[in-house]
Amino acid sequence: MLGLMQNWPLLIHKIIDHAATQHGGREVVSRSVEGPIHRTTYRDIRQRALRCAKRLTQEGIRPGDRVATLAWNTWRHLESWYAITGMGAVYHTINPRLFPDQIAWIANHAEDRILMTDLTFVPLLEALADKLPTVRRYVVFTDAAHMPATKLKNAVAYEDWIAEADEDFRWIDCDENAAAGLCYTSGTTGNPKGVLYSHRSNVLHSMAMSAPDCLGLGARGVILPVVPLFHANSWSIAFSAPMSGAKLVMPGAKLDGASVYEMLESEQVQVTAGVPTVWLMLLQYMEKEGKRFSHLKRCVIGGSAAPRAMIEAFETVHGVEVFHAWGMTEMSPVGSIGSIKPGLAHLQGDALFDLKETQGFAPFTVEMRIDDDQGRPQPWDGKTFGRLKVKGPCVAGGYFRGEGGNILDANGFFDTGDIATIDENGYMRITDRAKDVIKSGGEWISSIDLENCAVAHPDVAEAAVIGVRHPKWDERPLLVVVPKEGRTIDGAALLAFMGERIARWQLPDDVQVVAEIPHTATGKINKLRLRDTFKDYTLPTI
Ligand code: AMP
Repeated sequence: MLGLMQNWPLLIHKIIDHAATQHGGREVVSRSVEGPIHRTTYRDIRQRALRCAKRLTQEGIRPGDRVATLAWNTWRHLESWYAITGMGAVYHTINPRLFPDQIAWIANHAEDRILMTDLTFVPLLEALADKLPTVRRYVVFTDAAHMPATKLKNAVAYEDWIAEADEDFRWIDCDENAAAGLCYTSGTTGNPKGVLYSHRSNVLHSMAMSAPDCLGLGARGVILPVVPLFHANSWSIAFSAPMSGAKLVMPGAKLDGASVYEMLESEQVQVTAGVPTVWLMLLQYMEKEGKRFSHLKRCVIGGSAAPRAMIEAFETVHGVEVFHAWGMTEMSPVGSIGSIKPGLAHLQGDALFDLKETQGFAPFTVEMRIDDDQGRPQPWDGKTFGRLKVKGPCVAGGYFRGEGGNILDANGFFDTGDIATIDENGYMRITDRAKDVIKSGGEWISSIDLENCAVAHPDVAEAAVIGVRHPKWDERPLLVVVPKEGRTIDGAALLAFMGERIARWQLPDDVQVVAEIPHTATGKINKLRLRDTFKDYTLPTI
């Protein structure tokens, strides 16, 4: 027997309709790429998205077509998402930090028809345009006054272009499983793979993310996503903020410590979210300038492991609660987040930070397990490592155009490629990427644990650990560190410091001090490049 409730498909434009109806006057504040702060409301975002949707239709874009965006977090970028999905097309977010050839590769694989971009990226696209045959028009997120002279095909200023349409447009009425967004994984091995989100997966993920144990959004909330829209749906915020009526503050192109701090303060932001690299810049800026937060309550840190020292600085120095989150593009992207369950509310000091250092527990919509290499489930005892696998309505079932073949195991779970433990309370701890874990004498050493331990030292700004070949042990860890500004690092003293916190056999065999550690386009440590840099290096312990 079927239920007798209405069939109300979970479509993305229903979010902006709801925001305009219930929270129409709520502000969306952006640092524009042109410079000044720009203010609008959900009501106006919807109106302009309707125009943009109509203009896309006039342009010949059809449901299912891909429309690329290569842009910072601003109100125009947000409008374009609601417009693209609202007329049935698919937004394809491109990460500007990719190598130009990778950008061309994914734009061609996606067969992007229109490419919407910011002023910042016009030179990059001019250099690439010959390699982008499917793109028939470039729309620059600016107005006529700021539009540069450019040879890009059919280039037009966004404001002029949407002015050619009115808002008399009806959103598409489609299946909630229709494709809505496309985001390629960083592809550290092989070609990038496209994750194709649906309306339904985005709506469900955003509902799950709005909850108190996740972003904790409500109509009185104010959120600033430092995480860009091109990082897997900005962790849902482009949808969950309007869905809950929270004020949305967009940092535009300026993600340095001073600029982010200024927006957090001037817009009275309560919740923010981003990768550790941006928080490192922010905390360093605040330490140097002696700044404090006056409104910030919650900081969600994810994308790579949040170092304990960073969690402690936010919580003890600044009184901001840290929610450590883990996820991946394939998961829409959030898969777990570190809120405190009631049985653990008494924890304090080191015991509390031990818990905060884990990647938290899975919200509703995510099923999680750890398996050994034979696919046998491992115990949730906080000690046993396993391959972390996930299942749920917001987890990829396959990649765009079938790349990579079948990606689910016999139980329908997706293998994340991460190695993790899960404790009896459900708190998951990533110990490594399967390919980064250091295999020493048959034991596994977590590179993440060593990195976290190293950055707890007051002279260390950033640390990365890679496995280096060793004739006796197979691999031994090498620690690569960047000193904080104005400090020097003594390798032996650093190892002695770490020796008080971790087992002797896990200690790195050597420390190399460098000016900079390479990062991937999504802000993670680029271990592939680091391994390449140290490919001729020999450990002193050999
Ligand atoms: P991406 O799809 O590019 O976001 O990369 C996803 C990968 O980033 C995951 O599989 C993890 O290896 C890593 N990752 C994301 N969040 C965390 C975290 N909080 N701690 C450790 N690793 C993380």
